[in-house]
Order: sequence, then structure tokens, then C-alpha cells
Amino acid sequence: MQPRRPTRQIVLGDPRVGFVRIGGGLPNRDGTPTTPAPISVQTMTAGYTHDIDACVREIHKLAAAGADVVRVAVPEKKDTDALKHIIPQVKVPIVADVHFHFQRALEAVEAGVHKIRLNPGNIQDRSQVIEVIKACKAKGLPIRVGVNEGSIIERKDKQKRMKELGAVFSEHKQGYLLAIMIAKLEEYLDIFYEQDFYDIAISAKSMDASLVIDAYTEISKRFDHPLHLGVTHAGPKETGTIRSVVALGGLLINGIGDTIRISYANDPVYEVEDGLELLYCLGKRERIGVDLIACPTCGRIQVDLFTLIQDVRKALASKIIVPMKVAVMGCIVNGPGEAEGADVAVFAGDRRGIIYVQGERVANVPEPEILDRLLKECLDFQGKVQRGEAKLGEKKVEIIPPDPIGELGSGYEKIAAGNVDKFAPLTVGRS
Ligand code: SF4
Repeated sequence: MQPRRPTRQIVLGDPRVGFVRIGGGLPNRDGTPTTPAPISVQTMTAGYTHDIDACVREIHKLAAAGADVVRVAVPEKKDTDALKHIIPQVKVPIVADVHFHFQRALEAVEAGVHKIRLNPGNIQDRSQVIEVIKACKAKGLPIRVGVNEGSIIERKDKQKRMKELGAVFSEHKQGYLLAIMIAKLEEYLDIFYEQDFYDIAISAKSMDASLVIDAYTEISKRFDHPLHLGVTHAGPKETGTIRSVVALGGLLINGIGDTIRISYANDPVYEVEDGLELLYCLGKRERIGVDLIACPTCGRIQVDLFTLIQDVRKALASKIIVPMKVAVMGCIVNGPGEAEGADVAVFAGDRRGIIYVQGERVANVPEPEILDRLLKECLDFQGKVQRGEAKLGEKKVEIIPPDPIGELGSGYEKIAAGNVDKFAPLTVGRS
């Protein structure tokens, strides 16, 4: 894991919704020192912004899921008009996503939005960009300059477009597109610098994960602005998650990226959850709530584990706020090992669940009772952590695994033959 790349810092928000810092580590242009902010998670509403009540509901839902910043589309004046009513009702910084009409940016600034996103591909008139810069500067608002692969190809000039598309499909696709993206950014950012405006974040998105990695890597060498990472047009959730995670994960591991948006065609709540999980997995954010470990199941399975895992996930998501490790395992093979490493764990045997808290066996219950008992143990343990009576990640006892584990085979016959308690190797040995 490479150290985080230092950048200038932008801040968005207000005293009512709170402030979100993005990037940091380098002093800002006025000499103010900055420290790197936690990598934030962004998403975008899927509904119409002018449907005020629905938009407010969606923003609440996204904030509750953990979104640090929410972006909304403002294609029409009725959308920027709606912002005046939406912003006072929400508790998270709002970004207006502006394309084609610079007036929407001016209206959004007037409506109290916390940041503007401009696309160099479709707001190109220099005087219009300057108007937006001036309006944001007057209110101390940052601007994200967001280049997208899909909008950098000139659409009005068919000849030019065909030439560029030809290049897109040539073997030099990556290099050619990358060069266009960087050139667009440099050209656009010059307008900002000429206006002495540096409150900028940059994004350069593509649907091609490897191009995203190359583009941001190149941009990180050329600019010191914080970077908003994302893959655009990533597709349905099933494939879009992988496309996004491989690109963003690769960059984050290399220390590149200050705020992220996972995007795909599905409920944006999932984007927020996946974005947070990516940061948790890389150790880039302190986890809130459960770290759920579960086996993939196999022919040794002893209970309906898929259902149990989903039930456990849903039950714990709303009730557990401390970052406890919970393991849900299908059988005796890896169950004891994971139970030992987790704060609370269950592993299955003969349609039963053996439950452990920090390595200590606390219950052996039939399958229908596993969920409730596991939930009870998690809540009790959370209470102890909150009262300072227990520490997360502390191993109290050592579980001696079955020996030799291979002799158990699938475990089914032996476990099915009787109570799992009869298995001597499953007893807990005090260390
Ligand atoms: S814990 Fe048991 S059921 Fe789960 S994958 Fe491992 S061997 Fe299979």
C-alpha cells in the first residue's frame, strides 16, 4: 500500500449540514496548512430533482446509508428552483451536477448548493465558465472539473468525431483518449487559474477500468488538486461493482484518490454501501458497524447458510454500530478458526449453531434459533464494549481445532449422528 498522495484541500458544506474536507496534506494557496481528510464517499440521486419531496427522501436515505456528499442533476430551471426547497431540509452537503447550461450552475449557487460540478466537454464557452467561477468564488464554493470519456469526443463535427472514434478503436485507444482527457483538463483549468481560482477537485472518468487507472495516475503527477475517483457508465450492479472496485481499488492502493463514487445502474444506496466497504477493506476508513465474515459454503454445509447470512446482515446493519467482527461459518472445517478470530461467531453443525464470543463458547442452539441468539450475543457484546467491559479484537481463549481435521470429511455423518457437543475436538481449551 503506497502512502496517500498529498494534495491541496477543498471544503464543502455549511455550519448546518457540517463540513466535508476533501484531500489535503499540502498547504493551500493562501498558505493555510492542511492535513489529509478521510476519503469521502459520494453518490448521486437517481430521481428527478424537481420532485422535491421524493428528492429530499432520497437524500435522507443516502445520508443514512453513509454518503458524505450527495450530488443531484439540475438539467432544467425547475430543478435549480427546487434546490432552494431541498437544501434547507437535508443534512449533507449537496453538489449540483451541471451539463450544457452554465445558467444552471449560477442558479444552483444562488439556491445555496455547496459545490458545482462542471463538465469541460459540454460547457466550453470561456466567458460562461468565468461567470460560474466568479459566482462560486464570491460564495467560497469549490468546483469539480469532471472530464468524462463519453463527452470529450466532439459531437458537433462529424468528421472529427469519426476520426477520433477511429482512434478510440485502434490499438492506441488508451493513449489517445488519455491524451485528450489531459489536454481538456489542462486547457480548462487554465481558465480557473487565470481567475486565481484554485478551489478545485478533478475527475477523469471512463467505463474502461484500465483507462481510469492510467488517467488518474497521470493526472496525479500533473496536478495537486484533490481527485474524485469514479468509473462512468459502469453498467448494472453485478458487473459495475467489479469494474468500479478494480479501478478505484487499484488507485487507492497506490495512494491516489480523495473522494470516491462507485456508480452503476441500481439504487444509489448500494453505491454508498459498496464505496464504504471498499474503503473499509483497504483500511482507508474506520469501520462503522459489523465486519461480517462468512464462508462461501460447500458440500460440507450443515445449515441453510445463505439465508442465515442475509438475515444476520440485515439484522446487524441497523443495530450494531461498533466495528465488531462477526463470523458466520457453515461447518467445523473453518468454523473454529474464524470463531477464534472474530468477536462473535457461529459455526454450524447438524442443523445447529455453535456460538462463540471472543473465542468462548456461549451457546449451542438449533438452526431456527441461531439468528436470534447470535443477535442477542452481538447486542450484549456491543453493550460491554460501550461500557468499557470488553475490547474489540481481544482473544480470551484459544479454540482447539478438530485434529486431524481431514478425518472429519464432510462432517455430515459424524455430526448428523449426534450432538455436536460429543465431539471432543470442539471443546474449548483455555489458553
Ligand atoms: S466453513 Fe465448511 S461449509 Fe463453509 S466453505 Fe468452509 S468447509 Fe465449506
